[in-house]
Amino acid sequence: MRVRRISSILGGTAALAFALSACGTADVGGGGGGGDESGGEGGGETITIGVKYDQPGLGLYEGDAPVGFDVDVATYIAGELGYSPEQIEWAEAASANRESFLQQGTVDMVVATYSITDERREVVDFAGPYYVAQQDILVNADNEDIQGPDDLEGKVLCSASGSRSAHNIVDDMGIDAELREAGNYSECLSLLGNGAVDAVTTDNTILAGFAAQNPGTYRMVNDPFGEERYGVGLPAGSTERCEEVNAAITKMWEEGAAIEALEKAFGETDFDYEETTPEVDACQ
Ligand code: GLU
Repeated sequence: MRVRRISSILGGTAALAFALSACGTADVGGGGGGGDESGGEGGGETITIGVKYDQPGLGLYEGDAPVGFDVDVATYIAGELGYSPEQIEWAEAASANRESFLQQGTVDMVVATYSITDERREVVDFAGPYYVAQQDILVNADNEDIQGPDDLEGKVLCSASGSRSAHNIVDDMGIDAELREAGNYSECLSLLGNGAVDAVTTDNTILAGFAAQNPGTYRMVNDPFGEERYGVGLPAGSTERCEEVNAAITKMWEEGAAIEALEKAFGETDFDYEETTPEVDACQ
């Protein structure tokens, strides 16, 4: 029996419930941990993956689907779990809703510049990391004052709510910047463009994507700091699936698919992306 592909998240869940009741069997092979409902090879089932829709190079909605490094990583991993690209349902994740999407079962997986942190590990599981980014700062091209985090003292600084980026500067580094939280980074870019904020801070991958999309408009400060270990977010209790995802990540780097995806995303930009194979954490 095949279930028609239904594009909305709720539709997908309904389709799954229908599939299970119609078959009279809960064959959800290919899946792992707790709360994992979709899964299995073939059979028309789908996997729902949260990615960003506004971050050039990483997850950007173009035409009728998202594209970028995270999307390629997610597609590769889904393939290893037994899902063809047609069986992937994309959902827009924002920095602030990644945990709740996983907790509420809105998505099966998050691949959205999602740094592994101890705080987040209290409510969700992570496979990976599949990439290790660093943090940086983006300013308008004509801004010469800001050359590093210390220069943000007293400046208006934008980041996305739900991210770690601004807290890394204000709380961890103790720099007294005036925070302006936006819903996502493209909103921060608009605020930077119209002068409402002095700088945007987040991962260098994200800032590089925006800088490349708008040549000559912004300047990447290029003083990278910290370590942002990108994990694949999974619902809490997904140890088995975490192991499957880690195996997929390891293979993706071994086969060269990770570098290929990075090259595709950033090859034509100035961004000097990290080419070192990340060491995945043990699943907990
Ligand atoms: N990687 C950082 C985080 O997960 C910032 C990027 C983002 O908000 O997606 O908080």
